[in-house]
Amino acid sequence: MKQKAQRKILMRQKIRKVIAGLSLILFPMTFYYFSPVIPLQGAVAGIVTGSVIVFLFLFVFSIFMGRVFCSWICPAGAVQDLTAESRQSPFPRKYGHLIKYLVWLPWLVMLLAMYRRAGGLQSVNFFYATRLGLSTTDLMAAIVYTIVVLTFFSLSLLFGRRAACHSICWISPFMILGKYVSKSLRTFAPIPSLHLQTRPESCVSCGRCEAACPMSLQVQKLVEKKYIDHSDCILCGNCVDVCGKKTISFAWFRGGD
Ligand code: SF4
Ligand code: SF4
Repeated sequence: MKQKAQRKILMRQKIRKVIAGLSLILFPMTFYYFSPVIPLQGAVAGIVTGSVIVFLFLFVFSIFMGRVFCSWICPAGAVQDLTAESRQSPFPRKYGHLIKYLVWLPWLVMLLAMYRRAGGLQSVNFFYATRLGLSTTDLMAAIVYTIVVLTFFSLSLLFGRRAACHSICWISPFMILGKYVSKSLRTFAPIPSLHLQTRPESCVSCGRCEAACPMSLQVQKLVEKKYIDHSDCILCGNCVDVCGKKTISFAWFRGGD
């Protein structure tokens, strides 16, 4: 019985890695749909590009699914996970995680200012700047793609697990905002939102969950609060799967909702 449960756990992480790996393989083709530069280029002419639509979709998606995209689908997350075997040290979260807002806020203000200058939203073109919907189709795009991938990879290698998620990711603030919206909506109605719930009384403080957390969160401390609601939790499920006491589990609704 125990072995069956163990196999189920291993299967979940295998499936997650396969999905993230496939996304990474497709990344040269999907690159522009995650780009922060393409929206700025489009905004000059008032065009809503594919990546703007993807960012807005992820904002809405995260209201119900938290940051599950970051661990299960994001190709840039998968790039960083490649370093996990060689670089196990945690990212210094003290101030580092705030850097992403210094990237995101000026970018957002610039984007809105450009749309305003263009006289507002003029048109929608999901495939803007792509060729037949594909992103990396010429040498310049291939060079930019390589630089971006190497940047994400090196940051993680130099500064600890998922360093780029913490520090430079321009997409994560959209999802963090979605999580806050979700929290506010739950004060009015019991909407479903994927999260982690805990049974603190069963915790034996072994620290395995904390060691396994790719986002370097103090999981052991978070467990004490009954829900793990941290804005940087990417719902990878590693803590759920390594805990021998079944202290942490996925859930949709909260007891208080
Ligand atoms: S792995 Fe489980 S038992 Fe160990 S510290 Fe984390 S929650 Fe507690
Ligand atoms: S707290 Fe658990 S689910 Fe969230 S990022 Fe850390 S290991 Fe993954």
